[in-house]
Amino acid sequence: GDITTGTDVVVIGGGPGGYVAAIRAAQRGLATTLVEKDHYGGACLNHGCIPSKAFITAADVADEAANATAMGVHADPEVDMGELAAWKDGVVDRLTGGVEQLCEANGVDLIEGTAAFEDEHTIRIAHGGEGQGMETVAFEQAIVATGSRPVEIPGFTFDDERVWSSRDALAAETVPDDLVVVGAGYIGMELSTTFAKLGADVTVVETLDDVLPAYEEDVSSVVRRRASDLGVDFAFGEGASGWEETADGRLTVRTETADGDESTYEADRVLVAVGREPVTDTLELDAIDLAPDENGFLRTDDRARTDLEHVFAVGDVAGEPMLAHKASAEGIVAAEVAAGENAAFDARTIPAAVFTDPEIATVGLTEAEAADAGFDPLVGEMPLRASGRALTMDETDGFVRIVAEADAGFVLGAQIVAPEASELIAEVALAVEMGARLEDLAGTIHTHPTLSEAVMEAAENALGEAIHTL
Ligand code: FAD
Repeated sequence: GDITTGTDVVVIGGGPGGYVAAIRAAQRGLATTLVEKDHYGGACLNHGCIPSKAFITAADVADEAANATAMGVHADPEVDMGELAAWKDGVVDRLTGGVEQLCEANGVDLIEGTAAFEDEHTIRIAHGGEGQGMETVAFEQAIVATGSRPVEIPGFTFDDERVWSSRDALAAETVPDDLVVVGAGYIGMELSTTFAKLGADVTVVETLDDVLPAYEEDVSSVVRRRASDLGVDFAFGEGASGWEETADGRLTVRTETADGDESTYEADRVLVAVGREPVTDTLELDAIDLAPDENGFLRTDDRARTDLEHVFAVGDVAGEPMLAHKASAEGIVAAEVAAGENAAFDARTIPAAVFTDPEIATVGLTEAEAADAGFDPLVGEMPLRASGRALTMDETDGFVRIVAEADAGFVLGAQIVAPEASELIAEVALAVEMGARLEDLAGTIHTHPTLSEAVMEAAENALGEAIHTL
């Protein structure tokens, strides 16, 4: 039967936006209920950031071991995909279990089920399958954190068998012999490289004429070249238009150029990674007179408030960039505003990383963006081939680029293509956030030999006084 309870704050969705918001709200003394229909941790922990990084790391370990003959290391590693999948699931379980424990330890009430608005101060929660009952929760304030899902394209309905979403790919227990990946964005490139290292013959189909269009050409080309070296084939300027099953149970994937030229690719699986879209359809937003914008996102102000004063939205459902750390940062703001604090989302910059080989990480402005914003850009670079640490790792493709403004040398951004770029970017994110100058990066003593010295050297290079690069 129906149970009705009341709470100060109801959080809908238990991903990195929602669970962080719920914990912070509870820490601030608000009675907090978190509703999750699927698994705590959301897309990130269950079928995004975490499982992908587990696969990527395993593929890297195998690939590095197999390709270290220059170092005198001769190995022929064999990856047992079943064992790898079990290990990855263990990592995910540990983290999602941790989320549940943290919520409980902070006094968050957890309810499993799908939430929908009934009116401005009530949600209805449907538990699991049919006949499992309903529950209504009255709330003072709500935080919507329902996230996003992979976009489907015509002709490619996800069936978790032949036509994979990223989620299906990360649940794989075998490596397909031939894999077609549709889309050369960050998820497509991370997974193509990974499956290529795990032994698949990968073809990437992309309507544009390059990988990772969000990045500058000299950044993305490092990743494209490395992927090609790993055996990944690219079909640029082609859009996937459909597929047929072949007599032997494989697939023929059809593509078409803008001019109508058709090609076909044989595969065992096709992975469609063409983007993600916000999830609002289960919420019955009509009941509270709230409508998503033309891209499906819930519009919010810098307090994470929607058009309704008492309804917040955070994370992927609240707009780009769809990144876990942005979701959590917004979740904190929403919870603190809900608790009556004068909090606001005013990050100068949100770093982003692509976990390809090598990694890409960026923060703040590129040189062109700095010029567009009216700055006189001052740029310094350090190629990895001049880094002692990169040489000892035998990974010398890439560079660190720092963008500053010429007047006072304030650091505006960085583009890093390097092993561990995702870690290296944190220093520049701090510099941008603090309003540091090139002198601060150049004058900070960095540990030797490390890749992080390249950040210092790039700043020195911008100042025209680098020691190890010209
Ligand atoms: P989600 O994590 O999507 O969580 C939303 C939750 O809400 C889900 O658990 C869902 O079940 C639940 N829900 C939805 N509707 C309802 C309802 N009506 N009632 C109850 N519950 C509901 N980001 C990074 O920053 N770094 C990475 O390396 C990275 N890698 C990625 C790799 C892949 C393959 C993918 C797919 C994504 C990756 N992302 C990465 C993106 C990251 O996963 C998302 O940005 C992040 O999960 C967004 O968090 P969220 O809380 O907004 O939403």
